[in-house]
Order: sequence, then C-alpha cells, then structure tokens
Amino acid sequence: MRSDTASLAEVTSETSSSNHTPSVFDQMAPYEHEQIVHCYDQATGLKAIVAIHSTELGPAMGGTRMWNYASDAEALTDAIRLARGMTYKSAISGLNVGGGKAVLIGDPKKLKNEAYLRRFGRFINELGGKYVTAGDVNMTLRDLEYIRMETKYVTGLPEYSGGSGASSLITAYGVYMGMKAAAHEAFGTDSLEGKKVAVQGAGGVGSKLIEYLTKEKATVFVSDVSEDKLQRASREFGAHVVSLEGIYDIPADIYSPCALGATLNDKTINRLSCQVIAGGANNQLADEKKHGSMLQQKGVVYAPDFLVNAGGIMAVAAEYFGDYSKEYLMQKAERIYDVCKSVLQQAAKQQVGPQQVAIQMAEDRLAAISQLR
Ligand code: NAD
Repeated sequence: MRSDTASLAEVTSETSSSNHTPSVFDQMAPYEHEQIVHCYDQATGLKAIVAIHSTELGPAMGGTRMWNYASDAEALTDAIRLARGMTYKSAISGLNVGGGKAVLIGDPKKLKNEAYLRRFGRFINELGGKYVTAGDVNMTLRDLEYIRMETKYVTGLPEYSGGSGASSLITAYGVYMGMKAAAHEAFGTDSLEGKKVAVQGAGGVGSKLIEYLTKEKATVFVSDVSEDKLQRASREFGAHVVSLEGIYDIPADIYSPCALGATLNDKTINRLSCQVIAGGANNQLADEKKHGSMLQQKGVVYAPDFLVNAGGIMAVAAEYFGDYSKEYLMQKAERIYDVCKSVLQQAAKQQVGPQQVAIQMAEDRLAAISQLR
C-alpha cells in the first residue's frame, strides 16, 4: 500500500537544498519541535524515531507508522511533519493531549514480530508517558497488543481487550460533518443529496464515508488499489468505480482524499473540477502554503485535513483517559461541523486559506493554555 509517505522524497529533497543536508535541529527549529528520540535494537532490527512535537496540552499522542523509507532522513521528515499535525489536530479539537508520532523504519513483512514490537514498547515505556502511541499505517490492533505487554502508554487497543477498537468509524463521521460544513459554504446548503463525490480510497474511513454519502443520496465515484474494496463499495453502496488516476478528472462537486497524503499538488490541482475538498487523509496539501493558495485562487472550499479527520484522535484520547463511549464520541465528532464552518467563514472574511486559519486557531489555544501555568 502506498501512503502519504509516497511523495515524501519530494518533501525531503525540498528541505535539503542542493549542497546542504539539514541537521536534526535544522529540521526541528521551523516546527518548534520539543524532542526527537532515536531507538535502535540490533537483535530485532528495530529502528524507530519518536517525534514529540508538543506536550503543552498533555502527553504527546499520535500513532506509530511503519514504512520502508528510502532513507533515515525521509523517516525523520515524516515523523516531524506528522507529529506537528497531531499537535494541531488535538489543539483545535479541544483535547488535552499534545502531538507526537513514531515511525518504524523497515519492511513490516520482514521485521514485524512479537520481539520487535515488544522492544519498541519498552522504548516507549522509557519515555515515562511523555509520548503515548496508537496505530497508524501498517500497524494492526494485534501489534498494539504486543506493545501493550511492555507499556501502558498505548491506546486504540482492540475492543476485546478493553480498548475502543477501530477509530475509523468516528473519523469517517467527522469527515462527513466537515464535508457538510464545506458544502454549506460552497453551495449554500449542507445537503449532499444529488452531489457527485469522488472518494479516493475505500478503506476504513472511505468505506464508512461512502455509506453516509449514499444514504444521503449523493452519487459516489471511488478509486482504490484494492479490487475487493472497490467491489464492496460498488455492491453495497452503488458507488461507481473509477481508475486510480481517473479520480482526479471526474467532474465531481466534491473530492474526498481518504487514502494518501500530498494528493493536492502541482500535478493534480488543475485537474480537479470540484468546488469542495474534504477527506480523511493526513497532510493532503503537498505544500501547505503554495497548494493552499492555489486552491484559494481556484475558489475551491478546502476543509482542513487535521480538523475534519480528528475523530480518530478523539477516540483514542478518550480511551486513554478512561472516558470512551461511542455516543459521546459521535457527538464530539459532530462538533467538527461547527468548527469547520467557523474556520471557513473566517477564511473567507480574511481572504486567507482555511488551513492557515485552522492552524492559527490551534496555535491560539496552545498559547492561551500555556499561560495557565
Ligand atoms: P485504510 O488503510 O483502511 O484505507 C486506505 C485505503 O486506501 C485502502 O483501501 C487502500 O487500498 C487505499 N489506497 C492505497 N493507495 C491508494 C491509491 N493510490 N489510490 C486509491 N486508494 C488507495 O486507512 P484508513 O483508516 O481508512 O485511513 C485513510 C486515511 O485517513 C489514511 O491516510 C490515514 O492516515 C488517515 N486517517 C485515518 C484515521 C483513522 O481513524 N483511521 C484518522 C485520521 C487520519
């Protein structure tokens, strides 16, 4: 499976100008990153980077991603960008957790086993709760159970072991709410009936979103690398299957990236004919400033990714603090509608991109809470 790491090489090469490879501190500085921890274990082949972006609001929380990165530098860039995204996501969602992320470097099929995961769990434990992990790309609920054997600083565990289970249901509901808020801004109504929606990726988040959309009588187009998932989306919800590249060219009202990051880039933005973008993927804008402003110039209403896909962190944070209830979380995810509307209205008023407004809101909360000390 590709992930939002797919275009990381581009991002990494952008940050390392021709004859200068930035040091770890050069990379931490622009993001005001608190701490980076490198973990190595020869016996199991474990190479992990834990990026703790901010503990201003609480323990740095964010999933562990395993990926066969082309270089350690690429892994570091990924960890840094993702951890910062987690800080903003939790801050704008009113959660009392900070932002962090761990990346495991290597081929999951070759390396991942009980000893490897438990060794990683021990490293997490040594951080004493400063970082709390959860699942992400290439990490299963079973993997989290192994990590749990070594540390209590892990959340998003399976339901049968007292956890909240897959968070994608809550995430999908939040994305749906954000999409409705963006539709209201673009079309003057939040009804999605009759709207054409292009959904990229019919995994945990995408498939549930498709269910919400088709229930509301939207017409859904879907792409995925998995034939099984496409067939299911078509059979169960009547979604129209399109090719991996074709998803950018479909004359849709709404584009919903629910698979990969960085799909809003130089190559795709001019192909999209939609008026709204709202999806579950992280880091959708390959370059926040440049591509955010390209969308703004095109008049596309962009629902900030870290705001609308916050359902997952809401669920795992609630589990960690022992106050998980599905009803409560669905209500919490529903509030994404109001926050998204307010972000979009401010963006229109100030003539700036919604991502910028959302980041500012998150930073304002961080600054306000830091004064409580
Ligand atoms: P998932 O792995 O269940 O689904 C991703 C789907 O994308 C898979 O079906 C995969 O086959 C498909 N895919 C891969 N490459 C593709 C391509 N080139 N074109 C089209 N489809 C492709 O993951 P998920 O849990 O549904 O999450 C989807 C996205 O949302 C991910 O980027 C994830 O990081 C992000 N996200 C998820 C959550 C959550 O709670 N699950 C929370 C926040 C963000």
